[in-house]
Amino acid sequence: MNLQSLGAAGTVSGSCHLLTLGGQLVMVDCGLFQGDAALEARNREAFPFDPGDLSAVLLTHAHLDHVGRLPLLVRRGYVGPIYCTPPTLNLAETVLLDSARLQVESYKQEVRRARRMNREGEVPQPLYDEDDVHRTVALMRPTLAFGQTLTVGRLRVRAERAGHILGSAFLILDSPEGRLLCSGDLGNRESGLQQDFTPPPEADAVLVETTYANRTHRPLAQTLDEFRDVLNQSVRLGGKILIPSFAIERAQAILYYLKNLMDAGEVPRVPIFLDSPMAARATHEYFEFGDELIGPVRGAFRSGDDPFRPSGLHVVTSSSESQRINRYDGAAIIIAGNGMLSGGRIQHHLKHQLWKPSTSLVIVSYQSPSSLGGQIVAGAGVVQVLGEDVAVRAQVHTIGGFSAHADQDDLLSWLDSTGQAHIWLTHGEVSVMNDFLPILTERGRLADRVPRRDAVDLIQTHFPGGRPPGELEEARMVVGQAE
Ligand SMILES: [Zn+2]
Repeated sequence: MNLQSLGAAGTVSGSCHLLTLGGQLVMVDCGLFQGDAALEARNREAFPFDPGDLSAVLLTHAHLDHVGRLPLLVRRGYVGPIYCTPPTLNLAETVLLDSARLQVESYKQEVRRARRMNREGEVPQPLYDEDDVHRTVALMRPTLAFGQTLTVGRLRVRAERAGHILGSAFLILDSPEGRLLCSGDLGNRESGLQQDFTPPPEADAVLVETTYANRTHRPLAQTLDEFRDVLNQSVRLGGKILIPSFAIERAQAILYYLKNLMDAGEVPRVPIFLDSPMAARATHEYFEFGDELIGPVRGAFRSGDDPFRPSGLHVVTSSSESQRINRYDGAAIIIAGNGMLSGGRIQHHLKHQLWKPSTSLVIVSYQSPSSLGGQIVAGAGVVQVLGEDVAVRAQVHTIGGFSAHADQDDLLSWLDSTGQAHIWLTHGEVSVMNDFLPILTERGRLADRVPRRDAVDLIQTHFPGGRPPGELEEARMVVGQAE
C-alpha cells in the first residue's frame, strides 16, 4: 500500500493523497492550496498520474482545502466515482460553485487591468468554471454513511464521525495489505455543533491532521464568557460589530451562540445581519441534516425552534442590500465572509467601518499572519482595503476558543485507540509537526511527517524520528528492515 501526498505535506492546505494498492489508484481528498502566491501556484501543477487511470476518489469533508481541486481533476480527464457522505455532497457543491465564481470574477478583473498595459495574454486562466463544477457534482456518490462499509475495488471503506463540520468523516481503509486510517480534519470536542469524533479502531498506518497539534484550546465556557463581554462592550459603543466568519460551521455556531446569549438576556438584542450567501446556503444544510448535530441543537429542532435564528436576524442576499447595511444607524452585528478578511463582503464593511472608533471587529477565526486579518490583529495602524488606505480605529477583539479543529489533547486521545499504527503527520505547519513528534515518541509511537510527493510504503516502511521530506533516498534503504 503506497501513499503519495500531493498536498497538505508540511502545510495545512491542498489535502490530496494518492493510494496505490495492487495496481489500483484511489485518491483521498483533492483540495485546493490556499495561502500565499507560491502555495497557490501549486494548484496549477500537473497531477503525477493520468486522472483517467484513477479508480475512485474518497472525500473526508467539504472544505475547499479538501475538495477544491476536484473540478480540475475532472477537467483533466477523471470520470470515475467520487464517494462522500450526503451532507458533504450538498456542502461541496456550494463550496465549489463559490470557488468557480470567484475565480472567474477575479480572472475578468485581472484581464481588464492587464488590458490597459497590453498584457492581457499573461493573465492565467481560472483553474475551472461552473461547468466543470457541474460535471464534478454529477460524479459524486453520497453513499458513505457513518459505520457502514463500501467496497471500492480491492478496498473496503468505512466512514466514521470526525466531528469537524457537517458530514465530516474519517476513513478506515482495509485492503489485503493492511489497514490505513485517514483522519481528514478532526473536530474540537468542546466547541462547535458537531457530535464528538468516534474513537478509531486499531490500524497499521494512520494519516492524521496536525493543524493545532501544538496547542490546547480554551474551554468553551470561558470562550463564551469572553464573547458575551466583548459583545456587551461593543453594543455600548453603539457602532457596528463586525464578525468575519467562515461560511461553514463557524457562521452557524456564531448564530447559535448569539441566539443562546440573547435568549438568556446576557447580551442585548440588536439587529444581526448574516451577510454571506454561502453561509446562508450552508445554514440551510445544517437545518436539513439537523439530526447529525449536538444534543441541544437537536432538542431545539424537536421543540419546533430554529437554533440558528436569533431574533432580529436578517439574511442578506443581494449585494445592494449588503451595501445598504452601512447606512443603518446604531449598533448592529454583521456576520460576513470571508473569515480571514481577504475577500468577500466583509471587505466593504471594513472600508466603511474600520476607521470609526465606535466600530468593533470581533475576530473568531484563525488569521494567517500575511492576511488582512493577520495585519489588523498584529496592530497595523493603516491597512489596504479594496485598494484604499483605511485607518484602524475600531476596537479589535480576538476570541481564540471557537476552533473547529482538534487540539493536542483531542488528537492524542483519537490516536490512543489506533494501537501501534505508524503515524504519518499531515495538514499542519512543519514547526507544529516538529513540536508534536517528540510527544508521540514519548508515548512509544512511531511517527513521521508525510513526505511531499515522494511515495512511501505504508505497511513496510518506518522512518523513526521524523525524517524531513526530501531525504527519502536514505530512508528507502531501510525499507524492509523495520517490521
Ligand atoms: Zn476542514
